[in-house]
Amino acid sequence: MNKIKEVVIGTNNGGKYKEICCLLPNKVKKHSPKEFDILTPEETGKSFEENSLIKASYFSKKTNLICLSDDSGLEIDLLKGKPGIYSSRWSGEKNNFDLAIKKIFKEMNNIKKDWKNDNVAKFICCMTLFWPNGKSYSSKGIIKGKISTTKKGKNGFGYDPIFIPDGHNQTFGEMKFKLKMSIDHRFKAFLKIKKFFV
Ligand code: IMP
Repeated sequence: MNKIKEVVIGTNNGGKYKEICCLLPNKVKKHSPKEFDILTPEETGKSFEENSLIKASYFSKKTNLICLSDDSGLEIDLLKGKPGIYSSRWSGEKNNFDLAIKKIFKEMNNIKKDWKNDNVAKFICCMTLFWPNGKSYSSKGIIKGKISTTKKGKNGFGYDPIFIPDGHNQTFGEMKFKLKMSIDHRFKAFLKIKKFFV
């Protein structure tokens, strides 16, 4: 198998881009869609897998490079899996995660007043490698945890300030970047994909 030495990372999300760059070996040449002025395609899939493949094939075809994409999101049991594949869209056009987090608290409070000790959530990530010849490979990573009753921490991005992974007391937003990176859904998805790289 020819090991991959150069990829376009199929995301325009700065937080994800930084994490994926850190997961990849130093030797791999990394490109951002921003370098090519390419916007993210419409995510019309019904699952993380479908959306991840849509992005990987789109960015690979636009750049003629191998693409490593990521589709991820937060599923909350009390909200029957929401925001799920719509995690990004809950923040609106301006990517306002204060708003998205307020919406989560509001919906959880509407369903159950005292949800503090009865809440289960998970972050899911599906990563896809797509080669210009049409070949693809996908893998999934999941980290289970719960929702914090208040926002905590300034690290990370998106829903990091309200997610407490199982076995920890801090939210992803309070954790050091390196610790989050060594346990999260993206890291777990990457474990099954790293064999393709130099
Ligand atoms: P998409 O995969 O581009 O549709 O966006 C996924 C959305 O899920 C992001 O915009 C974040 O809001 C959220 N998300 C995914 N992974 C993480 C994470 O590691 N921390 C915080 N939020 C995340």
